Amino acid sequence: MNVPLLDLKLQYNSMKDELEAAMLNVAQSQMLILGPEVKKLETTLAEYCGAGFAVGVSSGTDALLAALMALDIKPGDEVILPDYSFFATAGVVARLGGTPVFVDCDPVTFNIDPAGVKNSINARTKAIIPVHLYGQSADMDSIMEISREYGIPVVEDCAQAIGVEYKNHKKVGSMGLFGCYSFYPTKNLGGFGDGGLVVTSDEKMYQKLLQMRNHGMEPKYYHKFVGGNFRLDAIQAAVLNVKFPHLENWNNKRRANADLYTKYFKAAGLAEKTGVTEFDAANKVLLPKAVYKSDNLRNYHIYNQYIVRVEKRDEMRKFLSENSIGSEIYYPVPFHKQECFAYLGANPTYFPSSDFAADYSIALPIFPELTEEQIKYVVSKFAEFLAK
Ligand SMILES: *Cc1c(COP(=O)(O)O)cnc(C)c1O
Repeated sequence: MNVPLLDLKLQYNSMKDELEAAMLNVAQSQMLILGPEVKKLETTLAEYCGAGFAVGVSSGTDALLAALMALDIKPGDEVILPDYSFFATAGVVARLGGTPVFVDCDPVTFNIDPAGVKNSINARTKAIIPVHLYGQSADMDSIMEISREYGIPVVEDCAQAIGVEYKNHKKVGSMGLFGCYSFYPTKNLGGFGDGGLVVTSDEKMYQKLLQMRNHGMEPKYYHKFVGGNFRLDAIQAAVLNVKFPHLENWNNKRRANADLYTKYFKAAGLAEKTGVTEFDAANKVLLPKAVYKSDNLRNYHIYNQYIVRVEKRDEMRKFLSENSIGSEIYYPVPFHKQECFAYLGANPTYFPSSDFAADYSIALPIFPELTEEQIKYVVSKFAEFLAK
């Protein structure tokens, strides 16, 4: 059996006619940048994400960059963010000359540890970027309390978490000043190329973002500040407008796949419980846990990635690959160990959970079209390797 990590063609083929008609429509209109498709996407997603306004931008990275530029982050400013995330979260801060300040993650959720955020605040702190990693919200009550106490704005990195709910049905992206999204093809709502979006409920910041994405220009050829070209292409918005109505269904399928993994890992005697943070005889595979799950089975975890941890991870990966099972390592090198951030001199003993995640995590196939047979096969190969 062949189980790829992700097969985007299955989704494409399931809605080919609609997608191709939408792209052809843009081609024939020759309205190629911004325009009505982008406006429609912004209106839909502002509402869906529980925010007042949305601005379509060129990528998730540029969403974060534009938000930090709207906050006027500059050399000498510190921005607190998780040590364990995709590179963009830290990269945007450094690109503006700011100083990224890394905080260890929570061992269960992989999200930023609020106590570490609080300990890192000083007079130079200008923003906090919690990341809702793998499709589950960070501990936003604690983070927003710190934000209010110290008057520091929060920029939520929602790249892997579109539509994710936190506790009382608050959507991620609607709690901080900005919520930043990515439409990179592997995200839960993916375009046919790069794309992103920023949401905010602050009207002044919304106006500033609109200008920021177009070189800070307003009116035409007058620039009060320096922005960038962060515009979203119409063809991406058209594709996303066709795909959006399916998002909840896809997220539900990812969640159902995660439940199947739990069921089969438990049945194989490899994982007694979810959310365990140390290996033992009953938990040779550490399974993810949706910590904010309530009775109401909604979007508390949308599994952009399904991450388990296992000893001898690299050998396991090789064995899976030999058995035609795709997997990936997110992320093998946490920020405090990246060469480009050596100048920051972060204390390497401060990040035990982040190091543990980097050393033992492996992402397994979780995409919506995955079958139960494929999931059973993946778990059977885990069992086979661990029995050796
Ligand atoms: C994908 C991702 C980004 C960047 O999005 P791009 O659209 O690829 O620029 C930022 N942060 C996180 C956590 C991501 O997963």
